[in-house]
Amino acid sequence: MVGYLFSFMKYSGNTVVISCPYCEQPAHYSGIASSNSFGGKAWTDGYCFYPMSNNCSSYTRCFACKDVYGIRDAKRIGMMSITDFVDDSLDIPNEIWSKSKPIAEPSDEDMYNSLNKGLLNNEKEARIIAWWKSNDKFRFTSDSSNIDELLNEEERIQNMNILMNLLTKDNSYQSLMYAEILRQRSNFETSLSILNDISPTSDSEKIVKKMLIDLCASKKALLTQI
Ligand SMILES: [Zn+2]
Repeated sequence: MVGYLFSFMKYSGNTVVISCPYCEQPAHYSGIASSNSFGGKAWTDGYCFYPMSNNCSSYTRCFACKDVYGIRDAKRIGMMSITDFVDDSLDIPNEIWSKSKPIAEPSDEDMYNSLNKGLLNNEKEARIIAWWKSNDKFRFTSDSSNIDELLNEEERIQNMNILMNLLTKDNSYQSLMYAEILRQRSNFETSLSILNDISPTSDSEKIVKKMLIDLCASKKALLTQI
């Protein structure tokens, strides 16, 4: 399995209540106490899915104001411990808990909207997640009836173009992403020249580099599972 990856939220076994930084609407998430990478799947864009883990991104969409914020950056209002059997609303005022709803994973469109408003401070990370979410339409489905339309969505292309400018060229992991974006845009020649200059820093990067070279040589642009 290829561990060519980025960080996901690592949840504890507790329920944590946070507030939206824009409108203060409370929201909560409950974690799994343990997880592992057994049965993981990886794709050419660097995204990995682990069935035994929490695969949420580190972002959520506020269900009140609809904007996206980073869960790590949100103010914590309180926490319920799974080891507390006496009062499971400890530390969280009832008037806040009664308004709280579970966090919601943002869509690619939600990410674009908040990025366009300049709300997300870690723009590179947010644009990578938006790109992954736009790739999800080809990742988990075999329905290819409107694939050309989805591949060429204006906001998806705009996000990929901006992301290419944000990726660090002397970082092998980010250079692989850069080459993958070019490949997904059917720019096979440029992607190949970038790939040939990448020095992988791990065995998994070596596998990804070879796979991307083979896909470019075959002029295949679609997202591919590794
Ligand atoms: Zn809000």
